[in-house]
Amino acid sequence: MNHPEHQRRAYLQAMGIDVWVPRDAVEPETSDIVQGDSAVADGMDWSELQRCVADCSRCELAASRTNTVFGVGNQDADWMIIGEAPGAEEDRRGEPFVGRAGKMLDEMLRAVGHRRDSVFIANILKCRPPNNRDPKPSEAAECRDYLERQIALVKPKVILAVGKIAAQNLLGCDDPVGRMRGRPHELNGIPLVVTYHPAYLLRSPSQKRKSWSDLCLARRLMSGGAEAVTGSHRWLSRQALSGR
Ligand code: URA
Repeated sequence: MNHPEHQRRAYLQAMGIDVWVPRDAVEPETSDIVQGDSAVADGMDWSELQRCVADCSRCELAASRTNTVFGVGNQDADWMIIGEAPGAEEDRRGEPFVGRAGKMLDEMLRAVGHRRDSVFIANILKCRPPNNRDPKPSEAAECRDYLERQIALVKPKVILAVGKIAAQNLLGCDDPVGRMRGRPHELNGIPLVVTYHPAYLLRSPSQKRKSWSDLCLARRLMSGGAEAVTGSHRWLSRQALSGR
């Protein structure tokens, strides 16, 4: 099989093999590739975009992934959920948020009257970083236009960024979640709410109460601010409500 040169190099790099290239044969810098490719994703329909992601070899994660994880759900959803990157289970199944954190996300969505298939779920990265390390800025940059195209196609009424990596990448800042959550943001004119990552809520259930109020904020923003935040939900265990 013939691999494109940058894919071949990504494989070798992932295996820890230095690649020496004659100076006059150097391919465009990553940033040039990104710019070139981002023009390609722009204007794609769903099936073109899906094919493009499935064949992607823009970064070294192409060499270690099992499956790309494109995103799932309602392509006309009012809510778009954006997480960080696929984990081991997502990489194996090719679907976002299917592990333990995914179950917690499902519960969070249920708490505000949504199901997995009524929202659209995607990640900053389409491929799993080895050992679940944080995405590198260059990887996020190379994946960015796929996500932007997904947002443009879904046209959500509200975006929920779950976790630090998603929020920082979408908002272009390095604030902690604690400072970003609890207030409305905007991404290209779309209201955006930041909340804790479901994996964090599994470790710190006492923070579910704050996450619940973020979900209510998203619901309010989506309905033009008219809907009041009332009560709580059984998703909030007694432990979460007591703040322990
Ligand atoms: N965590 C994420 O941020 N995304 C997934 O798809 C799974 C776990």
